[in-house]
Amino acid sequence: MTDLAKSRVTRLYETAAELADLFGSRASAHEAAGTFPFENYDDLRRSGYHLATVPEEYGGWGLSVADLTRAQARLGEGCASTALVVAMQVTQVARAVRAGWPQATFERVMQGIVEHGYLLNSTISEPATGSPSRGGIPTTSATPTGDGYVVTGRKTYSTGAPVLHYFVVSAHIPTNEEGARSQVVNILVESDQPGVSVERTWNAMSLKLCGNDDVVLDNVRVDGSALLSSAQKPSPEAAAFSAAWGLPVAAVYFGIGRAAARFAARYARERKPNSLNKSIAELEHIQEKAGRMELALLEAENTLFAVADLAASGEADRNPSRMVALTGAAKLLATNRAIEAVDLAMRIVGSASLSQDLPLQRYYRDVRAGLGNPPMDDVSILNLGKMALGL
Ligand SMILES: Cc1cc2nc3c(=O)[nH]c(=O)nc-3n(C[C@H](O)[C@H](O)[C@H](O)COP(=O)(O)OP(=O)(O)OC[C@H]3O[C@@H](n4cnc5c(N)ncnc54)[C@H](O)[C@@H]3O)c2cc1C
Repeated sequence: MTDLAKSRVTRLYETAAELADLFGSRASAHEAAGTFPFENYDDLRRSGYHLATVPEEYGGWGLSVADLTRAQARLGEGCASTALVVAMQVTQVARAVRAGWPQATFERVMQGIVEHGYLLNSTISEPATGSPSRGGIPTTSATPTGDGYVVTGRKTYSTGAPVLHYFVVSAHIPTNEEGARSQVVNILVESDQPGVSVERTWNAMSLKLCGNDDVVLDNVRVDGSALLSSAQKPSPEAAAFSAAWGLPVAAVYFGIGRAAARFAARYARERKPNSLNKSIAELEHIQEKAGRMELALLEAENTLFAVADLAASGEADRNPSRMVALTGAAKLLATNRAIEAVDLAMRIVGSASLSQDLPLQRYYRDVRAGLGNPPMDDVSILNLGKMALGL
């Protein structure tokens, strides 16, 4: 690694820590007021962190999946909602680098991110499809007009929708007047195009501040350069590369578990009920819970970072099915062990963990959302089983 690359990685980690503390300090006030933390994105842009995966030749930091997985784990310790939006930005940019978009469109998007601080995400879920990772066909249509397409549909769970500029939208191109579906494609839509609107539909107990809203596309006219790629049948290597870039998303949930553990440890050292002449940290049953909490997090952390290092070394191209299976394992452990760690942290703290004035209740609500990001646990276990059986 060059000195410049090393200094960028150091800057990434330092920035992740600074932003985590800043965003974390604002989270409970926004949750209480029901407001979206727009100022987090001003700070994000000022820090340059949103450029982490933009290639260097376009003015970005050009960092790897291993760097981003570690940084996102730290960012997730603050405001997991904002960390998730950031995870989507950095991972979707990394995927775009490899996706083979039309060159002029790719360059325009990179320029928008670098010069204007535009944010990007993929909005492919719909009420009808459920998780698109299961293979559902989008009902959103992209009807050819001769020099472009008219895009109509509704996307759900569009993480970061209030602050996104670029939406990578999945759609089908109808084959006939009845709208029978044929080819599935990805189309670039921009928030300031006529017919694009965001409906603030996200009303969940988890990640209240992530803006997982609906994006409504009402006869949005785009030109031919907005056609990014066919969403059908990527090569195994491309699919594995894309899967591996899910690790910085999984890292956010691991970060929540780590934040809960840090909080519980500090609380346990300070809490001295008058039934004891020492802190609860000195008690054997508290130490046993802390031990199990740490064990869960160590298992998740070591797998997550080891798989991220493997991905950064090119495993997706060497052995795509292994990369997919290991990514699923890392994601499963990151989310499920973080859920366990938050539960144990709450048991250590006791009833105060339920207080709205402490962050544990937010960690408890937020960490569960990881189960809804692909790959789902059943798919991950199946892929691991196939790998173990040599299939
Ligand atoms: C925090 C968060 C962020 C998200 N961010 C984005 C985003 O940025 N962009 C985006 O496009 N989407 C996003 N999503 C949406 C996500 O990818 C899924 O589309 C969404 O969670 C619905 O998935 P589901 O499995 O609950 O769907 P449902 O189809 O409602 O599934 C219901 C249940 O049935 C099971 N099931 C459904 N179909 C099958 C099948 N074919 N085989 C086996 N089991 C099945 C599921 O596992 C689940 O248990 C996000 C979701 C969450 C929670």
